[in-house]
Parts: sequence; structure tokens; C-alpha cells
Amino acid sequence: MQLLKKIEPYIKPGPGACLLLAASLLSLAPESPAAAETGLSLSESTPVQGQIVRVDVQAAAGTDTATGTFDGKALPFIRSAQGSFYALLGVDMDTRPGTYPLAVKLWHSGRVSRTLRQDITVRDADFPVQELTLEPAKVFPDSAALKRIDRENKLRNSKWSHWAEEAYWGRRFIPPLDGELKRFGHRRIINGAPRSPHSGVDISADEGEPVICPADGRVILTGDFFFSGKSVYLDHGLGLIGMFFHLSRIDVAEGDTVRQGQVLGAVGSTGRASGPHLHWGIRYRGSRIDPSALLELQLE
Ligand SMILES: [Zn+2]
Repeated sequence: MQLLKKIEPYIKPGPGACLLLAASLLSLAPESPAAAETGLSLSESTPVQGQIVRVDVQAAAGTDTATGTFDGKALPFIRSAQGSFYALLGVDMDTRPGTYPLAVKLWHSGRVSRTLRQDITVRDADFPVQELTLEPAKVFPDSAALKRIDRENKLRNSKWSHWAEEAYWGRRFIPPLDGELKRFGHRRIINGAPRSPHSGVDISADEGEPVICPADGRVILTGDFFFSGKSVYLDHGLGLIGMFFHLSRIDVAEGDTVRQGQVLGAVGSTGRASGPHLHWGIRYRGSRIDPSALLELQLE
């Protein structure tokens, strides 16, 4: 019962979550006294494409650390209390709906003391389709613009593929701006042709409104880019990267350490934007994530 109490706050009333936890407790019960304390629980056991999930592990006292993989990719765990660890699990927006294995190893004195496994079913997010008409030069860049885009992509890729090996956040993320977060993941038809999906959320606001840091981090890139305009990229640690696009003004510099609530810059419509708004994007270890899903997670 103690375990249930501890984990309950992280369980959304998503389909099957509570049943699943009950089942895993039952299956652990007969094994050994230590095993009864051990368990795996998820904030959502059947995530949709683009969702980020909190994975909690309750281990036997004396467990040194936990390591994990989801679909073969490493999941770094953070110690949340004595014998408790949690990790974030990101489902890229283009992940094919289906079942993927999650495995967590518990370590004691340099050896694996136990391996916990669970299959995670990824559901189709049913992303809506959006048709847009934009200035042709922003949709069909000329050769000079293509060279610029290529240069900017290389720079961005070189920056966001490195991150701090510790989590900078210590609590729940907050929105970078007041206002409605528009739906994530629209499949886009721009000037009649299919384009990359919209891998962030847009928040409408007036030009000049301050944009704040959703969580602590470090500034890894700033600049004025062809598509994203004036942009800030933050490393929140462990591969969680935040992006803030179309700013009118940037108030931070590469290398700065930033705190939750600190002003990063101001809303604008620079780059490929049809009006003043903030585009907020999140990548987690390369997976494109819905920022609204991140806001729902308790990260204390
Ligand atoms: Zn956007």
C-alpha cells in the first residue's frame, strides 16, 4: 500500500495504468521479501506519438542505481529518494504505433540485482492536417537561401547532439508564456505541398511579450535563422533540449546558465512566421516531444 501511495500522484487516469500497476505488484509478491518492494510504474502506460512519460522505479533498499532502455535506446535514471529512481521516456512523434520493450536494470555493488520489463504500447496521436499559404520565398528558398539553411541545420545539429549528463531541472516545467498552447504535431501542407510536421506548440501573444525559461538550463545556441528567426536553444540536461523561435529580441547568450522564470527574450514574428507568436519545441534525446505533455509531469 505504501508503494501505491508513493506512485499514485504520477499515474494519470489513462487507460490501464492502475490495472497494470496492480498486476505488476501481484506478480512480484511471491518472489522474495525484497522483490515485494520492487516495482515499475509509468505516468502513462499507453502513450501517444510525441508523448513524454515518467517512469518510476521502486527498488530494494541498498540499490545503487538503475539503468534502462526503451526500444533499445538508453534511458538515464535520476535518484528521487532512497531506493527510488525515475527516468523520462520520450516517444518521437513519428514512432509507428505498436508495442516497444522497456527494460530497467537495478544495480547493487556493481552487479545487476534485478531486471524489470514492460511492453509499452504507443498509440496513434491522430495528428490533424493543416493547410497554410506563405510567402513563396519562404516556401521555395532560392539557392543562396538553401545554402544558408544547410549551414544553419549543420550548426544546430552539432549543438543539440551534446548535452549535460545531469538534469538541470529540479521541479515541474512551467509554460514560457501565458496563453493557449495550440495543438502539437500538425501534418502540414504549405502552398499545396506536404512539408515537415509541426514539431512544437505555438502560443499566440503580442509582439514584445516576455518569454521565460520553463526550467533551469544552459543556453547552447542563439541566432537569427532562416525558418525559425531569432531563436534560443536551451539544454535542460540529460538530452532534454528546449527551442524558442520567432523572437523579436534575445536577452541571453550562448554559454549562459539560466533559471526557471528568467526572461529569455520577447515574442516576435521573425523567420517563417505568419504573425507574432512563440514556437516552443522540445527534443528528448533526439525524439520530438509535445511540450504540453512535459508540462503535465511532476519532476521533483
Ligand atoms: Zn510553430
